[in-house]
Amino acid sequence: MERKKIVAANWKMNTLHAEAITLAKDILTMTRLVKEVEKIIFPPFPFINDVALLLQSETGFSTGAQNCSAYEKGAYTGEVSCAMIHSVGAEYVLIGHSERRAYFKEDAEVLVAKVHRALAQHLKVVYCFGEVLNERKAGQHQAVVKKQLQEVISQVPKEKMNQLILAYEPVWAIGTGETASPAQAQNMHAFVRQCLAELVDTETATSMPVLYGGSCNAQNAKELFACPDVDGGLIGGASLKPQEFASIVKAFQ
Ligand code: PEP
Repeated sequence: MERKKIVAANWKMNTLHAEAITLAKDILTMTRLVKEVEKIIFPPFPFINDVALLLQSETGFSTGAQNCSAYEKGAYTGEVSCAMIHSVGAEYVLIGHSERRAYFKEDAEVLVAKVHRALAQHLKVVYCFGEVLNERKAGQHQAVVKKQLQEVISQVPKEKMNQLILAYEPVWAIGTGETASPAQAQNMHAFVRQCLAELVDTETATSMPVLYGGSCNAQNAKELFACPDVDGGLIGGASLKPQEFASIVKAFQ
């Protein structure tokens, strides 16, 4: 079964308004012709609306939020709800990114609440997970990933599984310049599908897109994306450089 090919840009807390618009325009121009790959851009909150407006009439481009509130609405100063995100044109939200888990202490309970809010607002969720270096060194990476998957997947109703995309992001590879080898990525992605088959069913295991993230760049994308269970990438640092990001999108060709 042919799964969607996806390359997503996580700009994190980078760019000012004018830079964000220029970056989105450059990415659009440089990747517009790569129709077989879906491009998802995750700008900082204040720029989502303008980026979404820029991309809305283009096929193969979507916009997403890097975070969302676990609450629905009301007296939660500084929070951004899923309904707000949806109302400014975003279709996706990142949940479970390692930076949210590590710096903002987001645990399984919070992540599950966020996933429920997002799904209720018809947002698609890119659920991120992955082991830290010590866990890999100790040979615990599969157990850690299985737990992170189980915590969230078991709480998602079967009919909403098609609103989920997974992103395996070994924490030791995020922003470090160190990348999982294609063999390490493939082994883990195959394991993720095994977990999905156990937790949900084989249909979900074969159809759900599973992206790789962690220092993916123009040099290593081709080999990583050639792995049979890798459906694309979640790109941090390299997504701020339009030429480099475009090369990653084209790595499927
Ligand atoms: C990320 O933050 O999701 C990521 C993969 O970052 P980087 O590409 O910079 O490692």
